[in-house]
Amino acid sequence: MKCPRCVQKIHRGAESCPRCGFSLAHADEQFGMVKKEMPSLADRAGLMRLGERRRVQAAMDRFSESFPGLFFTVYTGTLRKGESLRILGFWLLNRAVFEDVHGLSNDAGIALVIDVERKMAGISFGYQLDLYLDEEDTFQCLCKAYPYWLEGKYDFGIVALISLMEKILRRKCAQAQRGSRKSAQERMTLQRQSVARTGPSSIEQISDGDASTEEEEGIR
Ligand SMILES: [Zn+2]
Repeated sequence: MKCPRCVQKIHRGAESCPRCGFSLAHADEQFGMVKKEMPSLADRAGLMRLGERRRVQAAMDRFSESFPGLFFTVYTGTLRKGESLRILGFWLLNRAVFEDVHGLSNDAGIALVIDVERKMAGISFGYQLDLYLDEEDTFQCLCKAYPYWLEGKYDFGIVALISLMEKILRRKCAQAQRGSRKSAQERMTLQRQSVARTGPSSIEQISDGDASTEEEEGIR
């Protein structure tokens, strides 16, 4: 896995990052010690109206039906100074208790985190996805949502993102079935994630021309 703070590769079993010293305890300090119960769609920033949240929830439900052992979760919020999307995604998948995922382990979760203030979004996933997803895939998914998010259409962006994620997972699952039967444990790592900018959320800012897709790179 990659350390959520310094983004260096670290051993999945490491208690803390040998390079920067980061551990789950540091994430707890930022986001809270106790297990947090929350719905899998937690629009804390109030980005979406009821109808828009329903549209996103429907896409999340469809994802669960297509991949019964997995779930998709969406969190929007405003990060404080010094807080990072990567660390929040890491913390959510370690500490959050999602009320509506029917007892699935967070290791089977894909978490989309949107920071409204800094206009950034990132995707984290649990180690069960490790065989099927990499940072290139999650980056592609974020790019798919980007044009919608530029126009403030957060719901449409998330729906498009989930739809592409399903397509990628279907392809990867088929490849895995055709490919070698190496045991999953051999290649398990705790978590990976990638981050991209969501860009300005208003059309006015786009027409200013300061929102090129180059900004999607973000932290990778
Ligand atoms: Zn580190």
